[in-house]
Amino acid sequence: MTKWVYNFGAGQNDGRAEMRNLLGGKGANLAEMASIGLPVPPGFTISTDLCTAFYKNDRRYPDDLDDQVLEALARIETAVGLKFGDAQNPLLVSVRSGARVSMPGMMDTVLNLGLNDETVKGLATASGDARFAWDSYRRFIQMFGSVVLGVDHHRFEEIIDQAKIDADVIEDTALTAHQWEEVVEAYQALVLNETGKPFPQSPHEQLWSAIGAVFGSWMNTRAITYRRLHDIPADWGTAVNVQAMVFGNRGTDCATGVCFTRDPSTGEDIFYGEFLVNAQGEDVVAGIRTPQPLSKLRAKPGEISMEEALPEAYAELLKVRETLETHYKDMQDIEFTVQSNVLYMLQTRSGKRTAAAGLRIAVEMAEGGLIGRSEALMRINPASLDQLLHPMLDPDAKRTLISRGLPASPGAASGIVVFSADEAEMRAQKGEGVILVRVETSPEDIHGMHAARGILTTRGGMTSHAAVVARGMGRPCVSGAGGIAVDYGSQTLSAGGRMVRSGEVITIDGATGEIFLGYVAMIEPKVSGHFGTMMEWADDVRTMAVRANAETPLDAETAKRFGAEGIGLCRTEHMFFDPSRIGAMRQMIMANDMDGRRTALAKLLPFQRDDFIALFRIMAGKPVTIRLLDPPLHEFLPHGEHELMEVAAAIGVDMATMTQRAADLSEANPMLGHRGCRLGITYPEIYEMQARAIFEAALAVAEETGAAPVPEIMIPLVGSKRELEITRAQVDRMAKEVFAAAGKTLEYQVGTMIELPRAALLADQIAEQADFFSFGTNDLTQTVFGLSRDDAGKFLPKYVESGIFEKDPFISLDRDGVGLLVKMAVEKGRATKGKIKLGICGEHGGDPASITFCQEVGLDYISCSPYRVPVARLAAAQAAIGTRSDRTA
Ligand code: ADP
Ligand code: MG
Ligand code: MG
Repeated sequence: MTKWVYNFGAGQNDGRAEMRNLLGGKGANLAEMASIGLPVPPGFTISTDLCTAFYKNDRRYPDDLDDQVLEALARIETAVGLKFGDAQNPLLVSVRSGARVSMPGMMDTVLNLGLNDETVKGLATASGDARFAWDSYRRFIQMFGSVVLGVDHHRFEEIIDQAKIDADVIEDTALTAHQWEEVVEAYQALVLNETGKPFPQSPHEQLWSAIGAVFGSWMNTRAITYRRLHDIPADWGTAVNVQAMVFGNRGTDCATGVCFTRDPSTGEDIFYGEFLVNAQGEDVVAGIRTPQPLSKLRAKPGEISMEEALPEAYAELLKVRETLETHYKDMQDIEFTVQSNVLYMLQTRSGKRTAAAGLRIAVEMAEGGLIGRSEALMRINPASLDQLLHPMLDPDAKRTLISRGLPASPGAASGIVVFSADEAEMRAQKGEGVILVRVETSPEDIHGMHAARGILTTRGGMTSHAAVVARGMGRPCVSGAGGIAVDYGSQTLSAGGRMVRSGEVITIDGATGEIFLGYVAMIEPKVSGHFGTMMEWADDVRTMAVRANAETPLDAETAKRFGAEGIGLCRTEHMFFDPSRIGAMRQMIMANDMDGRRTALAKLLPFQRDDFIALFRIMAGKPVTIRLLDPPLHEFLPHGEHELMEVAAAIGVDMATMTQRAADLSEANPMLGHRGCRLGITYPEIYEMQARAIFEAALAVAEETGAAPVPEIMIPLVGSKRELEITRAQVDRMAKEVFAAAGKTLEYQVGTMIELPRAALLADQIAEQADFFSFGTNDLTQTVFGLSRDDAGKFLPKYVESGIFEKDPFISLDRDGVGLLVKMAVEKGRATKGKIKLGICGEHGGDPASITFCQEVGLDYISCSPYRVPVARLAAAQAAIGTRSDRTA
């Protein structure tokens, strides 16, 4: 015989919290609460297995179910001393659905089942309260009528509304027994009229119909859609709970309420909830009457708290709260009912909370000794920290949605619309808040993106240029808002029939991808004390260092504030795009010979040196990895006649030569072309200038602060040992020159980025020339997959959707392919040089799943964008805990 039915309450608990798959969350926790001595009205749960069996068997119940239900029902009868269907004093029950995970779309609960035209009179006599009995009956007909028989619930409400008008009262509770009796009559007429059958009078028929309706609701359209959207398998099934009723609607010493054991929005350790006197079930959330606060402290003038109205039950509830938290070791969301001053528990589950509340609760529970620090660390989803580091829209603020795009970089921002990077910068300098709106962005827009409060693009995905750069800068960004048409010519954007001109205000929410008209009120982020505490704990357990990818002083400051332990990637090319330098840069590129290049580079040297001085100062004593020039030269080419003429004049050549030179430099496939160390080898003077700037800057800061920085010079796009050997020799030579001139020396390192498959394959050889490896997993992913990130948007989403790729490999490191190469390079690198320093500086350095991988292969550090540093610190701690054997300490 299969066991389908599990008892709970009144001393017999067949279930436990861990059995939620079989009993559903509600059933499992009712049994758990009862087993730890909390007052739970007795009942039973029909398992989710039965639901599955029911559907396998053409919607028929197994033969042995009937007996098991009857037996369990008899047990309830004995426990409460009442009989189901008894005309004098009937047992009433609730029938409640409950799947593994709470699931909208499932059948609503039916309360007071077992009432009919006879038993209602018995209930009236036995309770001595006819109003209560008829109120219960009409509630039952209404719930059963709408959820089991399918009569529109509005039709019932119309009848009550009319009854209140006739009786000239406002509150439901003011209707008398007789008036409720009339409502019941009208309800029954409605049911007869709508269903063609009288309201079922047999309690057993009522029970089986309600049970059938719960199982039937598992396959209704709403539930199926919800499951599809949330990847819930159909064979999980739902359970059904049948439970003896307790009555919160039996007078002024009765009540019903819902609460959280701590404040779910702030996490404060304070009872947070609402209740209603003389009410039942969902009245609290239904908005019929205004619910009252639980604690006196929270009561506003005119409100009567539960603490005052029902002091005994409130005291019980406080004890229950303590018991529940001690037992579940987490904040709980509970439902309760008070009948004649006695408290009953009807539900508990772990409470949903904001990111801020989650953090505070975990920290305070660990401080209070309820859970260990590791457990506290493990409870926080690192990605949720993102929410705490950016301003958010005030949830109560009014807003007008105009369109939607992808949530590319979190945070909200309001500002005036501008359509070019230059205008963004110009207006920002005047103190205006701007939102940069582009069809898409390119490296030349960086200054405008930096100046903007937020970025909106109409094309490109979550890994488009705009998205990646915005995340790096911590700018809110909505990308790929295809519903918006941008017209640069008329300086307008239009969406859904609305037009916004340049200079008008919009608000974007990078966490949801929404775009609103005008200003929307915001809440500033608070990096509270709990946040700091959690970060300290994370730092104590993690074994990988966390650095930031940063090149501007602002980014470096931000990174340091968020706890970065150095810079893992300073991309020097960004330093050349600055308007004051791009001219010299262009002159360098367009020069025909080495002398011309040297002249132009000499102009750039002081700029570079100052950049590095600023970084070294901020990162005093911490490691700073500087990547020498990487992008293909053509990215710096002058555009259009005007710029070409400017450069021609500056270096003294004619336009024909200039145009020819530009044509010579253009490439069919620049990302696989003349870039990285290939530039360093063909134009050695570029890397020499950069190396000089680095060493001079380091010496200057050592002199100034007494704390010598340790520059780590990184050569990009190396594919063979020889390339590194040649470029390294240039750097070493510059070091010698600079040190000789200064009469001082410094410690420094030279290493390489591992971003080509060949470099990974031959890492043992390359390691002979490298002091460190930094895995450039953006390029490595591109080259391993043979896939260009900028073009991937056209098909990658489809790949992810149809499961060809589990995740976007640019967001989460591809363990199987790219990861294999990383692992191989780690092993080969260490085989050659045991102490070689290993890190990662791709976008993956800020992705928790990829961070776990980095821990597993044994990297020394991870580096990510400044705003992701806290996320990475926590993720690294979790990865360290995950690989430890003692997880509870
Ligand atoms: P949901 O999953 O929508 O919360 P529930 O089954 O928890 O549905 O029940 C709806 C309401 O009915 C809740 O307020 C619950 O506390 C109340 N309720 C359920 N069973 C009983 C019962 N046996 N006695 C009194 N109230 C009940
Ligand atoms: Mg509930
Ligand atoms: Mg690269």
